[in-house]
Amino acid sequence: MTISMYCDSLYIGGKKIKPITGAVQTVINPATEEVIGEAPVGTIADAEAAISAAREAFDKGPWPKMEWRERANILQKFHDALIARKTEIVNLIVAEAGSTVAVASAMHFDMSMDGFQYFIEQIQRREFIVPGSVSVHPSWTGGQNLGSTVKVYEPLGVSVGITAYNYPFFLNIAKIGPALAAGCTLILKPAPQTPLQALIIGEIAMEAGLPEGVFNIVTGGVEVGEKLTTDPRVDQISFTGSDKVGAIIQAQAAPTLKRVALELGGKSAMIVCEDADLELAAFNGMMNLTNQCGQGCILQTRQLVHNSIREQYLELLCAMVSQMKIGDPADPDVDMGPLISAAQREKVLDYIEKGKSEGNRLVYGGGIPEGLDQGFFIEPTIFDCKSNDTTIAQEEIFGPVLCVIGFDTEEEAINIANDSVYGLSGGVFSKDAGKAFNIAKQIRTGGVLINGGGGKLNPTVPFGGYKRSGIGREYGEEGLNEFLEIKVIDFRGA
Ligand code: NAD
Repeated sequence: MTISMYCDSLYIGGKKIKPITGAVQTVINPATEEVIGEAPVGTIADAEAAISAAREAFDKGPWPKMEWRERANILQKFHDALIARKTEIVNLIVAEAGSTVAVASAMHFDMSMDGFQYFIEQIQRREFIVPGSVSVHPSWTGGQNLGSTVKVYEPLGVSVGITAYNYPFFLNIAKIGPALAAGCTLILKPAPQTPLQALIIGEIAMEAGLPEGVFNIVTGGVEVGEKLTTDPRVDQISFTGSDKVGAIIQAQAAPTLKRVALELGGKSAMIVCEDADLELAAFNGMMNLTNQCGQGCILQTRQLVHNSIREQYLELLCAMVSQMKIGDPADPDVDMGPLISAAQREKVLDYIEKGKSEGNRLVYGGGIPEGLDQGFFIEPTIFDCKSNDTTIAQEEIFGPVLCVIGFDTEEEAINIANDSVYGLSGGVFSKDAGKAFNIAKQIRTGGVLINGGGGKLNPTVPFGGYKRSGIGREYGEEGLNEFLEIKVIDFRGA
């Protein structure tokens, strides 16, 4: 599959606008190292123009005041126009982010579209004026007054969405859906590694008939992000990326007191109990190792296995992983593609060296796969770790590297799971549903999957992290609330 996409414009104020400097970047396919396209590189001046457009559209445009149903109709057109371009978008996801065809189609694309649809439906179902209390109280002039209170949910204002490179299309839609459904105006800044998966959305948005300035895209790096997160005309930031940058963004946003929602990294634990279905656990263990070449925030990369079945688990896991085909993900038979860049591969290889030098037993992989010199490929790598204290069990690697750690009691497993600065996801494998539920309740993370869970994102429930994994939630009613203000109107009969 070849793909070539040339795009020379940002999307600002409902128009295609060339970046002020005219700068462009080449975009590389991480599997082939071939150039797949060119994208404009935004600057601070472009960010300034996008903020002005979004502010104007919020303060003077029809979008925030529009009747919910009318807004939902426009968003439905936008959603359906994206669906109509699915094949092209999936091919782009494969070529730009290195996803396998199956993952790009079912997870990056279908799951994000389900989420978008959920928000379109939610605004039609939801009550935005909610009755509070009704009371009778004495009037100043004698007699009695009938008083009442209502809560009114209103669009928050100008929102900025900043996204990571690993699931770019999905993450971009995860900002666009709720922000626009809530009636906010939005400026999206995608990751510099994956600009095309944002710009294609801009092109499609123009066809959907969004009012001018409601949705804007500015590409670029740190300086563009800094401008967007410090400008006083921006009201809210929805960020997905590393905890390190999340902390910087929170600091950047503090002087202007913006509302900040952060979806950050993870180092999630999967607990495999003595009574687990071992095949099912090992299969999930493999998927947590290899999905998106290990570049996933929710991947359960610490696998805590009861010591009585630890060797058996390792054998099964290695046998399953050895059957996986690594290569160009455009080939539908390929199970795992490359990392995003040479720099990311260097970082992951450094972690593997550290894993070895700190005395952990390397049981699978550890290097670059034979015959795959072109592209940023790396072997799925499994360590049998001596403890949870080792660097590779504590830091987010963002590559296909697993730590298997033994335990003897449930309490020990829960303590190890919680011994992390992160708290995004987790898993429990046991044939005893009650026991698994009890363990899940004691894990300090935003979500836990029992026996692998439903297998896909459920947009009706909130997603997010405890501790350094984030602040706030995406999806569900709570996800929409991130983009809403609440006003209380209190009145009484004259
Ligand atoms: P990153 O934090 O390096 O960059 C994310 C975005 O922040 C990019 O668009 C980048 O240009 C921008 N940025 C960098 N410095 C900035 C600044 N000072 N001001 C404003 N913007 C700035 O993350 P990454 O390497 O692209 O992605 C990997 C990380 O994202 C991992 O930690 C992963 O766990 C996390 N992630 C989290 C979720 C989630 O939902 N919790 C989902 C996907 C990825």
